[in-house]
Amino acid sequence: MSKTALITGSARGIGASIALRLAKDGFDIALNDISEKSFENNDIIEKITAFGVRCEKYIADVSDHLQCKEFVKKVKDDFGSIDVLVNNAGITRDEIGLRMSEETYDDVIRINQKSVFNMTKFVGAVMLRQKSGRIVNLASVAGLYGNPGQMNYSASKGAIIAMTKTSAKELGSRGITVNAVAPGFIKTPMTDKLTEEQRNAMLAQISMKRYGEPEEVASVVAFLCSDDASYVTGQTIEISGGLMM
Ligand code: NAP
Repeated sequence: MSKTALITGSARGIGASIALRLAKDGFDIALNDISEKSFENNDIIEKITAFGVRCEKYIADVSDHLQCKEFVKKVKDDFGSIDVLVNNAGITRDEIGLRMSEETYDDVIRINQKSVFNMTKFVGAVMLRQKSGRIVNLASVAGLYGNPGQMNYSASKGAIIAMTKTSAKELGSRGITVNAVAPGFIKTPMTDKLTEEQRNAMLAQISMKRYGEPEEVASVVAFLCSDDASYVTGQTIEISGGLMM
């Protein structure tokens, strides 16, 4: 029987690469993004279905608890099971802490962190009944080491690492693994926003002296979703080209 992977925020960037890689590995794919606009001028669905798997897209704001409940129910009804959840949707709203508005802080916590609670709660309930499942959360090196200008983002990503461990402990006895990946600097629309100065400062700290590609995150996520990772849970794997060691 085919398995289904649900990837949040997967119209583009790392989420789209993860969806493509899991499709290549034989998963049916439930794509998600916040608006129809995110899928405009975008051939992600055609690329996924070229692998011979099923692909549906769902518009939902994953920071909204009720929308997540309805979205997860729809995916379960459409596909019959949800075997993999990748909590990928995330945003940055960078500002030095002392200058950051309350709204900017709250937005990033709600979208990056509360979304993981929302989706883990509703998909976790499906996986509990199945007595199997894989959850992978997108953290960040900012959540491990902190990063100036990212008080909100690093707080959300640090929390995701803690939530990963908690969920792993809560769900492990039911055959569900929960892990996180912590990418460094990956070339996506999110990092396109950084200034030349910020990019060069980052590059100087990377042992491999290059930025990462979304596919290099997707391959680690695919491993965590594979049978080969059956005894790995509660872990955070850094994908940063050797940023800090
Ligand atoms: P991206 O290119 O900005 O893509 C993120 C996607 O999430 C976008 O398609 C965005 O939609 C969607 N999204 C935002 N808010 C959403 C919501 N409330 N509900 C549903 N979808 C939503 O970012 P990325 O670089 O691929 O990053 C993906 C994940 O990796 C994020 O969690 C990020 O924090 C993490 N990460 C990235 C890097 C990096 O270097 N790129 C490093 C470490 C961690 P719209 O843009 O259409 O609104």
